[in-house]
Amino acid sequence: MSRVEAILSQLKDVAANPKKAMDDYKAETGKGAVGIMPIYSPEEMVHAAGYLPMGIWGAQGKTISKARTYLPAFACSIMQQVMELQCEGAYDDLSAVIFSVPCDTLKCLSQKWKGTSPVIVFTHPQNRGLEAANQFLVTEYELVKAQLESVLGVKISNAALENSIAIYNENRAVMRDFVKVAADYPQVIDAVSRHAVFKARQFMLKEKHTALVKELIAEIKAMPVQPWDGKKVVVTGILLEPNELLDIFNEFKIAIVDDDLAQESRQIRVDVLDGEGGPLYRMAKAWQQMYGCSLATDTKKGRGRMLINKTIQTGADAIVVAMMKFCDPEEWDYPVMYREFEEKGVKSLMIEVDQEVSSFEQIKTRLQSFVEML
Ligand code: SF4
Repeated sequence: MSRVEAILSQLKDVAANPKKAMDDYKAETGKGAVGIMPIYSPEEMVHAAGYLPMGIWGAQGKTISKARTYLPAFACSIMQQVMELQCEGAYDDLSAVIFSVPCDTLKCLSQKWKGTSPVIVFTHPQNRGLEAANQFLVTEYELVKAQLESVLGVKISNAALENSIAIYNENRAVMRDFVKVAADYPQVIDAVSRHAVFKARQFMLKEKHTALVKELIAEIKAMPVQPWDGKKVVVTGILLEPNELLDIFNEFKIAIVDDDLAQESRQIRVDVLDGEGGPLYRMAKAWQQMYGCSLATDTKKGRGRMLINKTIQTGADAIVVAMMKFCDPEEWDYPVMYREFEEKGVKSLMIEVDQEVSSFEQIKTRLQSFVEML
């Protein structure tokens, strides 16, 4: 097995077995894990406390039954799964769960958590251009920090926070580099591997993830770039999984050359910058700098233009919109983006992501026809 294959295999294992990653961390450090609900949370605080931040992004193929008692059938697919898993006690090993509530579904879910872990809820201000928004978010972060310290029984110092911010910034920079490398080497990094590298960072200490991805990049860059005879796409949406769906991309030689997925590149888009005001203020300012996301209000609606620019920069043939079933914020952005794609002559395809289904034949047919049309 080559070193590239070995690193990918390790990251795929982590991505596929989050519970094992958490148990290993607990055995190694004697500390626990804190759940991070989508989409954005001050994860650096959890890291600074010495706990493992664990992303909570639902599960694929579970039949929804218990969650129906608490959520209407038209709540988004991912939160139906999260509620189902809560009811089954899947998150009860977490020392706490941090909730941001940028959409109505997350607001509801934060108020009816059925697990036993303590829940810490905070709000992102949506009028993000104002300095008052930064101050508001600092206050929210101070409350999150105080609750974390109380629940975990630790003190989170500014020095520890600064160290964690530097580790997270480095991880985001390395992942942005990885996105470019994956675009240049689709024969080496296929859709499944690309997703695994992103997903593993949800369940690993970022410094360990960074070291592996850096080594992966160095190994791949030592190889010659080969011409790609398939199609290239930019993908957008909340998330694009499971592997059975991504296998269809591989089958029809559709390379993912960039993404705007909430689970992937939106997590690495914005760094916490150096500057005045202390770590919490700088973390708050990162929210002000966020762009191109359905959860971060943008009255100018720049997401469509951002995606069109990505297709130009990467030479992509098209944009694939992975629409999370019943996700209101994504559904509201879509008509605006679609009109812009049409006006600029950018081909696009919308596929629905439903975490309850386990058959992807319909998506397979649509992707096959799309590739033929391209
Ligand atoms: S952003 Fe969309 S997918 Fe995420 S919780 Fe809200 S409605 Fe669901």
